[in-house]
Amino acid sequence: MGRLQKILIPFLGLVLAFWFYSARDTFKPEMLRGKRVIVTGASTGIGEQIAYHLARMGSHVLVTARTEAKLQNVVRRCLELGAASARFVSGTMEDMAFAQHVVREAQTSLGGLDMLILNHVGASYFGFFDGDVEHVRKLLEINFLSYVAMTTSALPMLKESEGSIVVVSSMAGKVGFPFTVPYSATKFALDGFFSSLRQEFTIQSINVSITLCILGFIDTERAVRAAAEVLRERPAPRDECALEILKGAALRRRELYYQYSSTRLPLLLRDCASELLDYLVRSRYR
Ligand code: NAP
Repeated sequence: MGRLQKILIPFLGLVLAFWFYSARDTFKPEMLRGKRVIVTGASTGIGEQIAYHLARMGSHVLVTARTEAKLQNVVRRCLELGAASARFVSGTMEDMAFAQHVVREAQTSLGGLDMLILNHVGASYFGFFDGDVEHVRKLLEINFLSYVAMTTSALPMLKESEGSIVVVSSMAGKVGFPFTVPYSATKFALDGFFSSLRQEFTIQSINVSITLCILGFIDTERAVRAAAEVLRERPAPRDECALEILKGAALRRRELYYQYSSTRLPLLLRDCASELLDYLVRSRYR
């Protein structure tokens, strides 16, 4: 009996703690109603799905990417789905002045900003590192520096609204991945910058949350075209991925893992069995 109590009481404590923690952190779509949100890379893929979820929740959506015709369709669909407002700005994130211009557009057309979702990604190759340094530089500008430029410009508005920054990253930004060396480098850079910035926000009592999203393989056209033949795993659905990103952002989580089983669980091995993790990553490929 004594032994049973010793096990039962801590177990019940754990169950209660889990229940309390989950109850406290329940996502409700109303959390995003009326929020002013920028979504980058929203002409297709995960960004497009994020825009549609925000629209259903009644947010003000400002989407951006390069392809104007696709953005027009996304805006039209957002309005059909119930967005409080929807607009786009088209241009390339190779240009830091454009990155800053998108943020200014939120200031002029929405009068402020509650959430900055940084999601766009430049094209890269899938294969052994080819030594093209210029490509690495260009990809760093699109995938990293423009994220920094937008964050810097948006910070005054986000401080005022006590808002959120959402950074869409990848498993390839947490552990070495073969065949995507330049891409992986840009995602690691995001982790370094935004995790350090989060520390500074805490020290300075700046109430702006930073959610780093660690994604596995998702069924967007680009990713499936590049990797479906060589990866052993099935891609996860992009609309569910987009919703999980928004839940994590609304709950102001520091990191979000999707899908949990293919991202968070393997990463638990990183410190205690890094070579095993490297092996598991390599074994994902045919
Ligand atoms: P995607 O379908 O290729 O979409 C990329 C978006 O970025 C598009 O809207 C594209 O629009 C825009 N874009 C590309 N180059 C740009 C540039 N120079 N300037 C401005 N916008 C540009 O990508 P995704 O698969 O949805 O990925 C979204 C995010 O999830 C990325 O950060 C990616 O790293 C991350 N992720 C994806 C996967 C996956 O398996 N899909 C896995 C892990 C992480 P335009 O071409 O019209 O500019």
